[in-house]
Amino acid sequence: MTDLAAALELVRTVPDFPEPGVQFRDLNPLFASAPAFRAVIDEMAARLPADVDAIAAVEARGFLLGAPVAVARGCALVPIRKPGKLPVVADRVDYALEYGTATLELPGGVLPAGARVAVVDDVLATGGTVGGVCELIERAGATVSVVSVVLELAALSGRDRVGGQEIQALRVI
Ligand code: AMP
Repeated sequence: MTDLAAALELVRTVPDFPEPGVQFRDLNPLFASAPAFRAVIDEMAARLPADVDAIAAVEARGFLLGAPVAVARGCALVPIRKPGKLPVVADRVDYALEYGTATLELPGGVLPAGARVAVVDDVLATGGTVGGVCELIERAGATVSVVSVVLELAALSGRDRVGGQEIQALRVI
């Protein structure tokens, strides 16, 4: 087994969390293994297109992946945050979740127009979250170059809500 395959085996499926019927994919055992975490960050960083300028990392688990990928690639890190956390907000987007809606905000003055951005998160499920982030980036005059996740849950058809962006998933389940 490769280092990456062994790392992905550490993802734990927790049934009925946070609500009945959801199979929650828990990456904490992977984060807790230094070699597994390194294998995942190295692979995500290596797969990004050469011309990426910035990583847009989605609160909260996307931060854990996006920050080391940004350092590994020597590019900017732009944290995409839940409402009420940012002192300077450029824009916000409301998007639909499976039940209800949510909001994310883009920090002000840190994403230049024309930047080529990789959106990083842990899991692509329904695609509402990443779709909202892509909208924020495009509205700022930047370009989404790729979406990079550890896991894509194919049955939820998240890629259909991400508007034809290239999706790099380390594993599709
Ligand atoms: P979605 O907007 O439906 O694509 O959901 C994506 C966000 O919710 C990601 O930031 C994930 O962290 C989290 N998420 C959704 N479904 C799951 C799941 N089954 N297991 C783990 N995280 C999930």
